[in-house]
Amino acid sequence: MSRALALIDGNSVYCSCERVFDPKLAGVPVIVLSNNDGCAIVRTAEAKALGIRMGEPFFKIREMCRSQGVRVFSSNYTLYGDMSARTNAVYRDFSPRVEIYSIDESFLDLSDVRADRRVELARDLRATVRAWTGIPTCVGIGPTKTLANHIAKSVPDLDGVCDLTDPVAYDHWLCRISVSEVCGIGRASLAKLEALGVDTVADLRHLDPRPVRKAMTVVGERIIHELRGLACLPLELMPVQRRGCAVTRSFSSRASRIGRRWSRRSPRTRRASARSCGAVDSPPTMSVSSTTPASTTGPTRCARSPRLSCCRRRRATRSR
Ligand SMILES: [Mg+2]
Repeated sequence: MSRALALIDGNSVYCSCERVFDPKLAGVPVIVLSNNDGCAIVRTAEAKALGIRMGEPFFKIREMCRSQGVRVFSSNYTLYGDMSARTNAVYRDFSPRVEIYSIDESFLDLSDVRADRRVELARDLRATVRAWTGIPTCVGIGPTKTLANHIAKSVPDLDGVCDLTDPVAYDHWLCRISVSEVCGIGRASLAKLEALGVDTVADLRHLDPRPVRKAMTVVGERIIHELRGLACLPLELMPVQRRGCAVTRSFSSRASRIGRRWSRRSPRTRRASARSCGAVDSPPTMSVSSTTPASTTGPTRCARSPRLSCCRRRRATRSR
């Protein structure tokens, strides 16, 4: 039976998680901001329609969000991680071979499923994930990871599922997808490919791999082989070993007392500890630190650690 991989992608997944817990957000423009509420990192279709761009600084759109009724959320990675675990548990009911690629993307091995049943199974999977977790998804199916792409999301007529293992659909879509949509091709690679006359994914597939290897290293050559249906990227079923992890937050208000700082830090420390203990290869050490902006002054605010502020105070007392 031919190889078939499905890439399942949560739609605007952080916003979708917020909608799960507040159904009044359905149909309302929603954005989720990056750490410390710096910029918009996830937008619903309604927010995109208002012209909010990916990575747009929040201070620039704050007034517009207020006037247009855009609901704005700080990111809540604990919630998103939990929802991701729930959706992956549903995926495992459909296939035992699941690679968790990112917080909202997973690959499923559907090679054992009959070719004429894959789309039906993908629709069933989408419906089940939506019913059990509330998260909307799209499913792209292809013979390799590079081909299991996101056409399903960008073409509404496909109703969230695109099967590129079907040769007719494969030829139809490849000449309609811009090469910039291919995973692994960034801005620098795009400029090099444009110089080689490559516009669509079909152009790239027919290119001689040797000049591409010169321009884009082995990564570019591998993409061409993948587009031709030759699998170069295996399914990684074991989670990658972590070298470290960090649980970081800013204080919501001034925390000048050492005791107060420690009390606010301890839940983060516990979470980091739980995360590292759950890892395959637990790191042997843990460090806790706090920093404050360099512009702040005074013994209690310029400390890199609680002790430093004490040292400075002591030094100041001695010099008097
Ligand atoms: Mg997504």
